[in-house]
Amino acid sequence: MNLDAKIPSGPLAEKWQKRKFELKLVNPANKRKYSILVVGSGLAGASTAASLAELGYQVKCFCFQDSPRRAHSISAQGGINAAKNYQNDGDSVYRLFYDTVKGGDFRSREANVYRLAEVSVQIIDQCVAQGVPFAREYDGHLANRSFGGSQVSRTFYARGQTGQQLLLGAYQALSRQIASGRVQMFCRSEMLDLVVVDGIAKGIVIRDLVTGKITSYAADAVVLATGGYSNVFYLSTNAQGCNVTAIYRAYKKGALFANPCFTQIHPTCIPVTGDVQSKLTLMSESLRNDGRVWVPKKKGDTRNAADIPEEDRDYYLERKYPSFGNLAPRDIASRSAKEVCDEGRGVGEFGRGVYLDFSEGIARLGENGVRERYGNLFEMYERITGENPYHQPMRIYPALHYTMGGLWVDYHLMSNLPGLFVIGEANFSDHGANRLGASALMQGLADGYFILPYTISDYLATMPKTKVTTDHPEFKKSEEEVKNLTQKLLSIPGKRSVRSFHHELGALLWETCGMARNEQGLKKALSKIPQIREEFWKNVRVLGGNESLNPALEKAGRVADYLEFAELMCQDALERRESCGGHFRGEYQTPDGEAKRDDANFSYVAAWQFQGVGRPALLHKEPLVFENLKLAERNYK
Ligand SMILES: Cc1cc2nc3c(=O)[nH]c(=O)nc-3n(C[C@H](O)[C@H](O)[C@H](O)COP(=O)(O)OP(=O)(O)OC[C@H]3O[C@@H](n4cnc5c(N)ncnc54)[C@H](O)[C@@H]3O)c2cc1C
Repeated sequence: MNLDAKIPSGPLAEKWQKRKFELKLVNPANKRKYSILVVGSGLAGASTAASLAELGYQVKCFCFQDSPRRAHSISAQGGINAAKNYQNDGDSVYRLFYDTVKGGDFRSREANVYRLAEVSVQIIDQCVAQGVPFAREYDGHLANRSFGGSQVSRTFYARGQTGQQLLLGAYQALSRQIASGRVQMFCRSEMLDLVVVDGIAKGIVIRDLVTGKITSYAADAVVLATGGYSNVFYLSTNAQGCNVTAIYRAYKKGALFANPCFTQIHPTCIPVTGDVQSKLTLMSESLRNDGRVWVPKKKGDTRNAADIPEEDRDYYLERKYPSFGNLAPRDIASRSAKEVCDEGRGVGEFGRGVYLDFSEGIARLGENGVRERYGNLFEMYERITGENPYHQPMRIYPALHYTMGGLWVDYHLMSNLPGLFVIGEANFSDHGANRLGASALMQGLADGYFILPYTISDYLATMPKTKVTTDHPEFKKSEEEVKNLTQKLLSIPGKRSVRSFHHELGALLWETCGMARNEQGLKKALSKIPQIREEFWKNVRVLGGNESLNPALEKAGRVADYLEFAELMCQDALERRESCGGHFRGEYQTPDGEAKRDDANFSYVAAWQFQGVGRPALLHKEPLVFENLKLAERNYK
């Protein structure tokens, strides 16, 4: 298969401008003749649905929550990056581009990342115009803070609720279009299949989560903005509903899945407290602006934090990475935390925790100063742990947080299936092997407000003009498959809950395909996953029925997909015999324990093609070409 990324020729800084001019346009009067299905109403989905409708297209938008406002984007805390250089501290579009490619360990496309950095400045203007209440300095300027992997302050924020405020902005733009009739919104609707006719994406099959009714929708293009799949690990910082189903089922219909093993573990989460936990909570990376990470120097030191004097503390990030200190990128900070805990220097009941200490920040800014910046995060921490972080250090530990992998897309954000576009966390496009903090919101909104609205017009203007309706046999076939799957799930007279299978799979993945991976562990996972899947289909028990709201049934379908998808993830991790970013293969490390890339053999995007359940997927490689940056060992020292 020829994977054409459609990257424009010419100098890096001119590529996007050039491509925008080359793209075919749809005449304003003709736009209303085209219909587009947008699945997802998070930042990526809501921004694109609103923008496409504003342009005049007929849009239908779907989400599984009861309101678009409840998309997982709402949970984003820390901020959104943009190369505005308001701080006059040396930032530029080029620096954001450089930081992002380096942060992703040189496993992303230069052209995509440069465009992202370029568009970032427009996002802030757009959101300010919508009334998003970004934090401001006393003089009225928008305030900035720093996030990991950069030495400038370019992160715009609204206390610890940036995602919520940005989503309200996008939601109000969407609501305007719903009111005007140009967007039809379908809540509590889950996409369970993609319909492909003669190799072209032509529609979707939806299950109404309240009535169980199956309905098909046909359109000229389908946009998936369905978020990430961290929950394959069972425990993650993601909302419970986040899942892989939409993109996995599109993969089964022929869309390529890129870099599925590139998953991100966030260093600052509240540690696991026991077996019955179903969710982990993020403590935003922004806290590392004023919090210092440390553990006791001595193994097994059980004294209270306050009783451990300065000389007995190891501020290990500051020691190992003096230039970036506590703002080392996530993959590096996570591995360092694991390392000190493996050495027996972890804190807390299970020894799997490190301190995030604000005493110095409070001495510098005062308790109120710290409260103004992070008040809601401190409150959340106290409510969950019962400990007051103004008076004693927080305890944190890495947890699954974000997935850089996703469906393969070209520069136009179109998958290998014509007519299927993928945006936001659901695609693989911009973050390589590790995403920098505050760059996911930037990417979702760049894709939704500023990139897809241009590129989709080129597809619509040039696509074959044959209209397909839901009477086409492919729609009927997909509907039947979806109905049969639901019936099958409900009819197994098993004894185990869906949750128990999910828990078992997650524990296996965390052990073998989590923060550290190796050949032996991955092979073990690849032999165990099919066994768990087989047991699932024999012994799961899904309570309730199809004709009313049934979260157990929803979850069963999603876990069934995880049980197939997990194999693809491990296959990808096994195949990539190098370490890069969040993909840390124990066999490939530098003498001081850093990730060791193999650029000669693995500088490519791994794009996998479905070959059948339980059969190894077929690998296609898109070589990564670096014309502007020199491939170098990532160094934050
Ligand atoms: C706790 C937390 C804090 C974070 N903080 C930050 C931050 O400060 N800065 C930053 O840049 N990033 C942050 N991130 C990452 C960022 O929030 C996400 O990457 C981003 O919001 C994803 O947006 P999205 O629009 O792609 O997907 P989502 O917001 O996840 O939206 C997915 C949408 O798809 C719909 N959907 C999914 N599957 C289906 C289906 N089968 N059928 C119908 N609808 C479906 C859902 O209903 C939803 O509307 C954070 C993540 C977490 C977990």
